Amino acid sequence: MIAADLETAIARLTALIESAKVVLPFTGAGISTECGIPDFRSPGGLWTKNRPIPFDEFLASQQMRDEAWRRRFAMEEQFAHAKPGRGHRALASLYKSGKARAVVTQNIDNLHQASGIAAQDVIELHGNTTYALCLDCEKRYELGWVREKFEASGRAPDCECSGYIKTATISFGQAMPEDAMRRAEDLAASCDLFLAIGSSLVVWPAAGFPLRAKQNGARLVVLNREPTDFDEIADLVVHDEIGEVLAPFIAH
Ligand SMILES: [Zn+2]
Repeated sequence: MIAADLETAIARLTALIESAKVVLPFTGAGISTECGIPDFRSPGGLWTKNRPIPFDEFLASQQMRDEAWRRRFAMEEQFAHAKPGRGHRALASLYKSGKARAVVTQNIDNLHQASGIAAQDVIELHGNTTYALCLDCEKRYELGWVREKFEASGRAPDCECSGYIKTATISFGQAMPEDAMRRAEDLAASCDLFLAIGSSLVVWPAAGFPLRAKQNGARLVVLNREPTDFDEIADLVVHDEIGEVLAPFIAH
């Protein structure tokens, strides 16, 4: 059912959460837009103007690696100053109450961790852009260090093992993180309430999770500004602002 208004949406969501034992929040770009993080995939978003650099091109040339880092540093103001929004805080409250054991996210902005959810309980399907990893030895690098080297030499630095250093995100053409995928599948199969929040649910294989949960008997809530392909099978569909809908669930 599509909630007729905000009040109905909140009342119905409250009832669903209260009657659930295990809630699994699954989040996409929509939860972070009120935090100033743009939705890259949206019409007019960055990716429609600036074609993302596929993984094979990143590997193939220093020029592309330099370009990838130049773009990342250009975004740093937005990422560095973003703070968790009402949606993040509501989900952190759900986590602290024990109803949600983890959050599965398509976001790379680290805002769930910043809202108080332990890093090991944030399942990141597309990685994390707030730090970098060596693609060979997986040594972690902080962005400030990469930027210093980049600005001093004009080129993206390599790891001490000579591997390429890349933000810890999953690029187009890069393998999905196996561990995160497996954990997300397990969580989707074992929850009894799946909350799809701010995701258009079109990016596969991530979009398979709500279906998996529903097939296992879980209730499904779709909270997204735009309609999704899953609205028809959802138990509750809300097209209001995420922050407005979730604000009452923030524990004080
Ligand atoms: Zn290395």
